[in-house]
Amino acid sequence: MRLLVLAGDGIGPEITAATLVVLNAAVRRFRLDLDIEEDVVGHQSLKQFGTTVRADILDRARAADGLILGPAATFDFKDAEKGEINPSMYFRKNLDLFANIRPSRTYPGLPAKLGQFDLVIARENTEGFYADRNMAQGNAEMLVTEDVAISLRRITRNASARIARVAFELTSARKKHITVVHKANVLKLGDGMFIEECRKVAREFPDVAVDEIIVDAMMAHLVRNPARFDVIVTTNMFGDIISDMTAEASGSLGLGGSLNQGADHAMAQASHGSAPDIAGKNLANPFSLILSAALLLGWMGRKRAAPGFVEAAAGIERGIVQAIAAGEITRDIGGRLGTKETGEALAARIGGA
Ligand code: NAD
Repeated sequence: MRLLVLAGDGIGPEITAATLVVLNAAVRRFRLDLDIEEDVVGHQSLKQFGTTVRADILDRARAADGLILGPAATFDFKDAEKGEINPSMYFRKNLDLFANIRPSRTYPGLPAKLGQFDLVIARENTEGFYADRNMAQGNAEMLVTEDVAISLRRITRNASARIARVAFELTSARKKHITVVHKANVLKLGDGMFIEECRKVAREFPDVAVDEIIVDAMMAHLVRNPARFDVIVTTNMFGDIISDMTAEASGSLGLGGSLNQGADHAMAQASHGSAPDIAGKNLANPFSLILSAALLLGWMGRKRAAPGFVEAAAGIERGIVQAIAAGEITRDIGGRLGTKETGEALAARIGGA
């Protein structure tokens, strides 16, 4: 199989390098038939090629079995006409990666700020309030006058139903409990439709318990008792916000693994951004991107009937649990190792497992 790796901006190159060290150890340990290719996006690409994402990279991404995208400095990219395209948006939209899966759990050896928990957020990934990608053409944000801006949110039955199905399938192999998070008290039509589609899919899964919770109350419930949740399904922006909180509650934003998946393609991407405040200092926690890469290997293994990839994914996740317990970790979660050393220690652990 073939994997395309794009390092991105800020801490992207550091955490991607650590991820590749771990992936190469997994390739050897689990005898994976995997070719890894690298290319550039973000600021480096803008400097070299006049655009943050070259069109031919999309062809390479389509031809590959999986994609790893490091965080990009998306806030810097304001004008697509000048080649400043948000790489994250670009691949999610063009590869139709409609489901963003963000697991979050506590780990033995780390303080559990809100108590122990193990949950997964299934976030709709193609529409909602993301105005830069929710239209077939153009942008759903408009400057009406210099003092008036309008941002439109799109919700469709199809996108709601397909993320609901992914969420119900996920929980079927877990604790069989779904929480639908919405704001239908205010967004009566859009989130009303989202809930309706979740309820329709729920009828196909009679053994799954379903709760519906309004997003503001949800934040309180998560802080009070995150252990009560299993799979949370929600619209695009709510999922983005909630998942940063659950990652931090598990120990650090640097533990937030994330997979963007569609029918034919999948892209591993950390939950967090390019963290310019710690970039270039060998401080970033690489586990978020490594966990995301493990999720991708698992997806590739199931999709292409390659059990070795599924084993490798489990092996990497196991290795991370052991590394955390052994204190082979970065400073954000109480360790002393740098990004590079953390990747090397995990690779050694996986290689010798
Ligand atoms: P951020 O997620 O980059 O950082 C928030 C805080 O978490 C910072 O203090 C940072 O140091 C810390 N942090 C993040 N990742 C960490 C890691 N792996 N290890 C240790 N600490 C970590 O959010 P931000 O600062 O608001 O955004 C920076 C840039 O990233 C912006 O340009 C933003 O638009 C972009 N962004 C990109 C993506 C993406 O590419 N998917 C996602 C979110 C934000």
